[in-house]
Amino acid sequence: MSINAESYEGIDYCQQCGSKLELKDDHEEKLRPKCPNCGFTYYKNPIPASACVILNDDNEVVVIKRKFEPNAGGWALPSGYIEIDQNPEECAVDEMWEETGLEGQVERFLGYFSDYSPIYEKVISFGFLMKIIGGELRAGDDAVEARFVALDKLPEIVFPSHVAFLDKVKILSREEHEGSLRKATALLYKDEVYKIVGAAIEVHKELGNGYLESVYEEAMKIVSTDRDIPFDTQVKIPVYFKGNKLEKQFIADYVGYDKIIVEFKCIPKITNVEAAQLLNYLKATGMQVGVLINFGSRGKLEWRRYIRT
Ligand SMILES: [Zn+2]
Repeated sequence: MSINAESYEGIDYCQQCGSKLELKDDHEEKLRPKCPNCGFTYYKNPIPASACVILNDDNEVVVIKRKFEPNAGGWALPSGYIEIDQNPEECAVDEMWEETGLEGQVERFLGYFSDYSPIYEKVISFGFLMKIIGGELRAGDDAVEARFVALDKLPEIVFPSHVAFLDKVKILSREEHEGSLRKATALLYKDEVYKIVGAAIEVHKELGNGYLESVYEEAMKIVSTDRDIPFDTQVKIPVYFKGNKLEKQFIADYVGYDKIIVEFKCIPKITNVEAAQLLNYLKATGMQVGVLINFGSRGKLEWRRYIRT
C-alpha cells in the first residue's frame, strides 16, 4: 500500500511556521507534506474511536438515532472519538454516559474495526461490551432518540464497525445460551433430586441429628412412600473393573427413580472423602447422578449433588 496525494487534500500550509508545504517521499519512501522552511512533517493517521454495546439482562442493546453527520437520522451504537486525555475504555464509559444517561463499566473488549470516514478518511473503532451499573436511559446531546432493542430485532445500523461489534455480541450471547443449555445438562434429574432431598429434609426435621444411619434409612422409606418417590434401599450394584464384573458388589443405601444413588451419612460435615467415595461409586456403577445426604449436621440438612462427568 502507498499513501497518495489525495490523502493530503487541503493540507497546504505548515502548522508551525505557515510556509507552503511540499509533498515529498520521506526516508521510508512514504509520501508526506514537508515544510521546506522549518522541516515540519505532517502525518496523517487513522482517528481512534470507541463504540459501546450496552447489553441489559433481557438481551437488549441500546441504539441511538444520530442527530449529527455523518449519517444523521440513522441508528448507531453510542460512540465517540477518543480524546487526548482518554484511553479507549475511558472513552467508552464517558460516551455511554453522555449519549445514553447510563453509567457503565467495560465488561469486555470486542475487537477493533477500521471504517471509512467521510471526514477523517479512516477511523479505527474499538468495540466494548458494556455493563449497566446505574442511571436511566435518555437521549444525550448527540442523539435524537435512545432506546433498548432486542439483539435479534435491530434496526439498520449505519456504521459497518458497529454492525461488526453487534455481530460479535450476538455470537457471544448465543454461546452463553448454549452455556445455559450445558447448565441444564449439569442439572440432570434436578426434579428427582429435589424430591429425594425434600423427603430427607422432612426426616431430618422430624428426627434431628444423632441417630444411626439405619434409623434415617427406615424413616426415608416411610417418607418416600408417602411422597410417591420410587426407591429401593440396600441396592446391590455390580462393580466393573476393566470390563470384568467383580464379585464384591457395591451396596447403595438408597436408589431413587432407578437412577440416583443416595448415600446417607451421619457425620458433623461432608468432606472430600465422602465426595470422592460417591464419585467412585458413580464411576463403578455407570450411574450419572449421586446425592450425599448428611443427617448428622446440626440445623439445616446438609446435602450435595454429584454428577459423573
Ligand atoms: Zn514550517
